[in-house]
Amino acid sequence: MYNEISLQNSIIQPVIPHLRDSPAVECEVLRLDLIHPVISGNKFFKLRFYLEKALQEKRKGILTFGGAYSNHILATAYTGKKEGLQSIGIIRGERPALLSPTLQDAQELGMKLVFTERDIFQKMKNDQAGLETDFPDFTIVPEGGYGIPGMLGASTIYDLIPKSRYNWILCACGTGTMMAGLLHASSSEEKLMGIPVLKGYSNMEKEIRSLLPPEDQTKNIILDHTYHFGGYAQKTMELIHFMNSFYQSNGIPTDFIYTGKLMFALSDLVQKGFFSHGSRILAIHSGGLQGNRSLKKGILAF
Ligand SMILES: *Cc1c(COP(=O)(O)O)cnc(C)c1O
Repeated sequence: MYNEISLQNSIIQPVIPHLRDSPAVECEVLRLDLIHPVISGNKFFKLRFYLEKALQEKRKGILTFGGAYSNHILATAYTGKKEGLQSIGIIRGERPALLSPTLQDAQELGMKLVFTERDIFQKMKNDQAGLETDFPDFTIVPEGGYGIPGMLGASTIYDLIPKSRYNWILCACGTGTMMAGLLHASSSEEKLMGIPVLKGYSNMEKEIRSLLPPEDQTKNIILDHTYHFGGYAQKTMELIHFMNSFYQSNGIPTDFIYTGKLMFALSDLVQKGFFSHGSRILAIHSGGLQGNRSLKKGILAF
């Protein structure tokens, strides 16, 4: 799988977040969506150390958790197949009559899908010891790759970012693992801002903090909770229109679950004058485009 990842494709390109005569700030996007068609974006980074652990410990497979649209589930299924590891996906909720395109793909890649009622799902997720007893040959990867290995993997995203160039780095947050990794790696010159895509996820800051070692605890965790568009995997026509116009101006496709909301936030904050004059801002395009397959055909211009 590693030989299929093309980190050199992760170009940085300038974007116009919002059409204006003289932008007072410079915005650029790190295109992690281009490193691989399936394990796109941050999922490769978050999985890499879990995977190394599974291979080193000669495990039979990897077991993880997720919902119907989870990029993490699909990335794990793909990784498992490529590395000759079995994969088990514990999926939140009952088996639907029709599997989402994400779950269909995961299943075709050989992942065993185990549909689990919501409260049991929560219990299983939090019972690491029980899982290790029940699946002794499997490496357990928490939902979304959340955990220290996931954070350390995500911190390697920072290697692709030119040093001392940006005042601000923006990323979307699901579990916050990617943001924790970026915070861990970042220098004090850069401010990081996370855009949570879940509604009212008030524990996010705590979850991020608990992944950080003591020396990072003084770093600022800045989150803007106002761009969730109704919650995880929720959307409005305003968001879809924005994604289309962002694509038309910049040639960059985004997904409606994470990166569309992130670019909207970037654009809106620039427009509102949140960033001081002359700021240089980098937004992380963390991939996830496959999630758009659950949208009605023709709704997106790309
Ligand atoms: C999973 C995912 C995220 C969120 O990453 P976390 O580390 O869980 O916060 C952001 N963007 C995309 C495209 C993702 O697939």
